[in-house]
Amino acid sequence: MKKVIIIGGGFTGSNVAKRLEKKFEVTLIDTKSYFEFTPSILKTITDPKLFEKIKVFHNDFLKNSKVIVGKVKKISKNSVFLGKKQIFFDYLVLASGSNYSSPIKTKNMSSVSKLKNLEKIHEKLGKAKKIVVVGGGLVGVELASELVNFYPEKKIEIFTSSKLLPRNNKKSREIAKNFLEKRNVKLNFNWNVNYKGRDYFFNHKKIKGDYFFLCTGIKSNSEFIKKEMKEILNKKGQFLVNKFLQVKGFNNIFSGGDVSATIEEKTAQSAVIHAKIISKNIVNLEKSKNLIPYFSKSRPMVISLGRKKGIFEYKSFSFFGTIPAIFKKLIEKKEIFGLGGF
Ligand SMILES: Cc1cc2nc3c(=O)[nH]c(=O)nc-3n(C[C@H](O)[C@H](O)[C@H](O)COP(=O)(O)OP(=O)(O)OC[C@H]3O[C@@H](n4cnc5c(N)ncnc54)[C@H](O)[C@@H]3O)c2cc1C
Repeated sequence: MKKVIIIGGGFTGSNVAKRLEKKFEVTLIDTKSYFEFTPSILKTITDPKLFEKIKVFHNDFLKNSKVIVGKVKKISKNSVFLGKKQIFFDYLVLASGSNYSSPIKTKNMSSVSKLKNLEKIHEKLGKAKKIVVVGGGLVGVELASELVNFYPEKKIEIFTSSKLLPRNNKKSREIAKNFLEKRNVKLNFNWNVNYKGRDYFFNHKKIKGDYFFLCTGIKSNSEFIKKEMKEILNKKGQFLVNKFLQVKGFNNIFSGGDVSATIEEKTAQSAVIHAKIISKNIVNLEKSKNLIPYFSKSRPMVISLGRKKGIFEYKSFSFFGTIPAIFKKLIEKKEIFGLGGF
């Protein structure tokens, strides 16, 4: 059997492993022993117990794959280096995703220490009088909404460098603004906030707050690409791919999810579609069949505003209510169940 190595066990990597494990000798390498449903991670900040419900151990849904918990430090054209160990591949899938500030995404934590970390934060939040969210994009808005629903008595403030939800449509922006203002979340627009250690500043003036969340966007996890292979990365550190999701200059190396340079909003939804295309294309290469192209396009999106409300957005159309919130819950269940979880 040909060998497939997958780096990263998020939406793309886990789904590729599951799809290919009966046809290939699959090795999944992830810094974590489990898949976590990132879109629901914000709920675990206010309710750490929910963490158990949004994670599935890789070994529980991968029956024929080898799972290695470790961090890839380097790759070559035909192998992957894990510490001093070199593992050769016929096909490689680069699905190392993106990094976000803790506790939103954590790379090297076991599920036990992740839960402990969430509990510690939860305790600190309980004592905080004022919570500050830096960043008013999708994550900042969802987090502030979750916090205000859970802690209606606390002062919650958002500082953002432009407006709320800058990449979303006008209607969604208005809905989010009304939702937050109605619940007394203070919104500060056009504030370019800097930070040093745990302190946050605007125009050299320290911002007051008891707990800060940094929600200013994702960073690609591609630091294992060394100088000699740098031409396969764009300026954001994402892997340059052709329409078949093959990495620039390679037939047998693919990339999908947040770490690939497809031009679109980086979502779990797209990451799962990338996984399908990559899996089919690896099978097709083996059968000498034509490869399937991937087309980036805008897809429907659900933005949570607390547990019970949300915005459904598709292109310039948006609506607010409980239906989007139910919809998001169903997506969570479908993905986790699909991987063999609860
Ligand atoms: C708070 C939040 C809410 C979101 N809400 C939504 C939503 O509602 N809907 C939606 O569609 N999307 C949402 N997203 C986006 C979505 O979570 C991402 O697009 C998705 O997680 C990307 O999946 P991925 O497989 O590319 O990578 P990731 O999920 O980032 O997984 C990558 C994996 O690779 C591992 N890894 C990294 N480097 C290495 C290495 N060197 N060696 C081994 N393993 C490594 C990581 O530890 C991780 O396990 C949200 C994101 C955040 C942060």
